Amino acid sequence: MRSNTQSRVWLITGCSSGFGRELALAAVAAGDRVMATARRPETLTALAEQGQGRISTAALDVTDPASITAAVKETLTTYGRIDVLVNNAGSLVLGAVEEFTMAELRQQLEVVFFGAAEVTKAVVPLMREQGSGRIVQMSSLGGRKTYPAFGAYHAAKWALEGFSETLASELAPHGVRVLIVEPGAFRTEFNNNKHVTAELDAYRDTAGATRRFTVELTDAEPNDPVKGAAAILAAIDSDRPPLRLLLGSDAVDGLREHHAALLAEVSEWESVSRSTAMTE
Ligand code: NDP
Repeated sequence: MRSNTQSRVWLITGCSSGFGRELALAAVAAGDRVMATARRPETLTALAEQGQGRISTAALDVTDPASITAAVKETLTTYGRIDVLVNNAGSLVLGAVEEFTMAELRQQLEVVFFGAAEVTKAVVPLMREQGSGRIVQMSSLGGRKTYPAFGAYHAAKWALEGFSETLASELAPHGVRVLIVEPGAFRTEFNNNKHVTAELDAYRDTAGATRRFTVELTDAEPNDPVKGAAAILAAIDSDRPPLRLLLGSDAVDGLREHHAALLAEVSEWESVSRSTAMTE
């Protein structure tokens, strides 16, 4: 167990369940201290009790800028610094592009992309000035590969991936590292909490098939968030941490298959792609 002077301070969003909760407990088990946050802080009482005095709690709704400012301030008042930020809060809007409304699309982007971006921007200056820090962005296999009915979610996670990869290159000279985590299917409340849009019969075999699959998958997801949290800690603590960390065999297999298909298409169309040079 690290002493308080050696221990790191974590700020984690979305700790009412799932990865957020397990990451808080894994950080405490490693001897660190945590500001666990949730939009309804009353959901964090049991987690704080399990925290051996090393978990404090605060309200943080990633769609509410004032609550982000207040939670960052409270973390600094309580612990004096932030060493690890985890942008974990997330939700799922499930429906085909024609099925979801612009309001549903914007709501998905507000939580998964703009929320994470705003929390990141609140913490980056602190880490840059202290010359150290880790920013963990909970993306998804769905941040690099797509499935019907996940268009809103993919838009948000792909945006988060581009933002985070850029951020990593900007912060590296300042001693701050970014880790993009890409889980496959994990047994959390994620599927239970999803928002399903209106459904059109025309998408029964595409978006509809995904919808039925997510129902079958609920509470039968193949991966364990406790092991996922341990893997994230291992990556953060590595001497050579990755920029991206896939979690789960389904994520590894899915990404390999996707990249093979991408490269095959590049090859198939290569001569056309290369045919555009100016003729001098
Ligand atoms: P959970 O549903 O168990 O946890 C999601 C958390 O996000 C909850 O604490 C929820 O809080 C919180 N949240 C939702 N909206 C907001 C908001 N506006 N402000 C603050 N917190 C909010 O799912 P997971 O633990 O699985 O999800 C964690 C992350 O992992 C997400 O970013 C998700 O996209 C990602 N992920 C999960 C996968 C999986 O299979 N489980 C796969 C790939 C990625 P509340 O209780 O208030 O709703």
